[in-house]
Amino acid sequence: MTNSAGEFALIEWIRQRAATHANQAVGIGIGDDAAALRLSPSAEMLVTVDVLLEGVHFKMPPATPVEVGRKALAVNLSDIAAMAGQPVAAVVGIACPRDGGIDLPRELHEGMQTLADEFKVAIVGGDTNIWDGPLVVSVTLFGEATGSGPVRRDSARPGDWIMTTGSFGGSLAGQHFTFQPRLLEALALHRETSLHAMLDVSDGLAADLHHILDESHVGAILQADEIPISEAARLINDGRTPLEHALGDGEDFELLFTVSPEEGRQLLGTDTLGTPISHIGEIIDGSGCRLVHGDGSETNLPRLGWEHGFAETDSG
Ligand code: ADP
Ligand code: MG
Repeated sequence: MTNSAGEFALIEWIRQRAATHANQAVGIGIGDDAAALRLSPSAEMLVTVDVLLEGVHFKMPPATPVEVGRKALAVNLSDIAAMAGQPVAAVVGIACPRDGGIDLPRELHEGMQTLADEFKVAIVGGDTNIWDGPLVVSVTLFGEATGSGPVRRDSARPGDWIMTTGSFGGSLAGQHFTFQPRLLEALALHRETSLHAMLDVSDGLAADLHHILDESHVGAILQADEIPISEAARLINDGRTPLEHALGDGEDFELLFTVSPEEGRQLLGTDTLGTPISHIGEIIDGSGCRLVHGDGSETNLPRLGWEHGFAETDSG
C-alpha cells in the first residue's frame, strides 16, 4: 500500500509535474532505475553537482522551501553558465525532515521546477529520503558544451582585460535566493567573443579571481573604482566598506571572465548581453593580485571569501 504522505506518493507527484517538461534529450525520465539522455554526438558533456544543507547554506525560516528548491538548481545552472554550456537535465537527491511533512518537498520541487521550465531543463530522476535530520538537497546537472567547447578557468593570458557581469556584494541581504543564473549572457559572450577564462563568482570576487590566477599561472591588477558594487552592499552598515563587501561576500553568481583588450572594448561598446558588464582590471605576468585605489595607492588583494573548514585533528 502506498502511504499518501510517503516517499512513493511524493515521487509520483513529482513525476507528473516533471514529465510534462521533458526536453528532446530525454530518452527515459523519472520512473525507471536510471534516466537516459541523448546528447548531441559531437558535444562534450558537462556535469556539475551542489549540495545545500539546512543550517549551513540556509535557514528555514527565513528561507522558504520554494526558495531553497529554486536555489539548489540555480547554483548548478550558474556552474554550467560558467563553462558557457547549455543545461539539459537534472537529477535531485533530497533528505527531508520527517516533521516537515510532504508539503515541504512539494514546495521545494515547485521552486525548482519553475526555474527548470524557464531554462528548459528536464528533471529526470533523483532519490528521496525521509529522516529526523534537517533538509539536505543535492542537484546534479548535466549540460552540453557548445561547438566552441567549454570555457575553463586556466586560460587567462597576460594583457587580457578582466570583466564581469552585474554587481557584487551584500548577497546575503539581497539576491542570494533570487539571482538569475547568467546562462544566456555566457552563451552570448561565447558566441560574440573569444573568451579566454571564465567562472561564476560563488566564493567571492577576490577569492574566485584568485582561482583564475592560480589555474592560469598569471597575476592581476584590479582598479578599485571600477568594481561594480551592488545596492545591497552599499546599504550594509557593519563597519566594512561597500568595496570590502563586493570583494569578499560571495554568492553573487555573476560571471568573471577575461578577453583580449580589443574584444573587451567591443563588448563595452555594444549592449550584446542586456546585462551590465564592467572592465575591472588586467591580467599580468607573475602571480597574486594588486588593487589600485582611486588615489593611486596600491594594496595587495588577499583571497578573502568563504571556505568550509574541517575540525582540527592530530593527524594533520
Ligand atoms: P530505485 O529504488 O530504483 O533507485 P526509486 O524508488 O528511488 O528508484 O525512485 C523511483 C524513480 O523516481 C526513479 O526514476 C528516480 O530517479 C525518481 N526519483 C526519486 N526521487 C526523486 C526526486 N526527489 N526527484 C526526481 N525524481 C526522483
Ligand atoms: Mg532501481
